Amino acid sequence: MTDLPSHTAALPIERPLQRPRNADLHCHSVVSDGTLTPEALAARAKANGVELWALTDHDEIGGQARALAAAHAHGMQYLTGVEISVTFIGHTVHIVGLGFDVDNPALVQGLRATRGGRTQRAREMAEGLARVGIAGAFEGALPFVGNPDLISRTHFARFLVESGVCKDTPEVFRKYLTEGKPGFVEHRWATLKDAVTWITGAGGVAVVAHPARYKFTPNEEYALFTEFKGFGGQGVEVVTGSHSAAEYVSYAHTAREFGLAASRGSDFHSPTDSHTELGTLPLLSSELTPVWELLQHRIQ
Ligand code: AMP
Ligand code: MN
Ligand code: MN
Ligand code: MN
Repeated sequence: MTDLPSHTAALPIERPLQRPRNADLHCHSVVSDGTLTPEALAARAKANGVELWALTDHDEIGGQARALAAAHAHGMQYLTGVEISVTFIGHTVHIVGLGFDVDNPALVQGLRATRGGRTQRAREMAEGLARVGIAGAFEGALPFVGNPDLISRTHFARFLVESGVCKDTPEVFRKYLTEGKPGFVEHRWATLKDAVTWITGAGGVAVVAHPARYKFTPNEEYALFTEFKGFGGQGVEVVTGSHSAAEYVSYAHTAREFGLAASRGSDFHSPTDSHTELGTLPLLSSELTPVWELLQHRIQ
């Protein structure tokens, strides 16, 4: 046995440099309001160089087993995912959950309760649209719905574009489906506390999705992050298809200010109506703690 030179023992143990990874931890399949199957999404993610992937359907984890199998078939690593609809101070906020146990009873039951009421809401949306002369929107949206438990505004938007009422999805939301517009229906989703607790109770990490989308005042945003963190939330989406380059910088600052890990996800929904492609956004800045560093033991 050769003795090591004595000075070797004194060398500091270096942390291996983290190579930035092409992780895409936010997208939607036909199981919610995307247009591609989990398998087609996996193939598309792989083709774009994604190494670590999560499918995050709205309020629904029915696609997770297929997504995991497809990720492995393409040699990608996988984190379980979901995007939970929350009502916070009267507004809808989305909380992404990553790396949870899909069989956790409280999570499964909580998501079921959150999905409940979507069909009634959709009927009321159609009534609102009928009052401004757009008849048959409920029946019109149905052919676009992949999961009968999960009728969303996106399905109405696809119908209104297809039928020529609007030229594109942003126009539908602007004119018909946002607060104060004829097809908008107030809806009570999960509480922030419940959503975070379901995720963390199932062994996962909770992440505030696309914070810039909420157009909160600085005080409202401070309240969101403070309460989120107080309930056990640990992450924030910094690089997302919903953020501008300036917002990558401002939410990197938020991540550091609140001691949150950073996530990256395209929020890809469809090859035709998504402006952001899977796996193509800028990588996270190396100054941030990537959320997957907290989830090493949950990567499949
Ligand atoms: P819902 O959960 O039924 O309220 O639908 C929310 C979904 O609508 C979001 O996840 C997006 O996919 C889509 N959405 C919301 N706002 C807009 C917008 N301004 N433009 C395009 N899509 C939007
Ligand atoms: Mn969506
Ligand atoms: Mn969202
Ligand atoms: Mn989303």
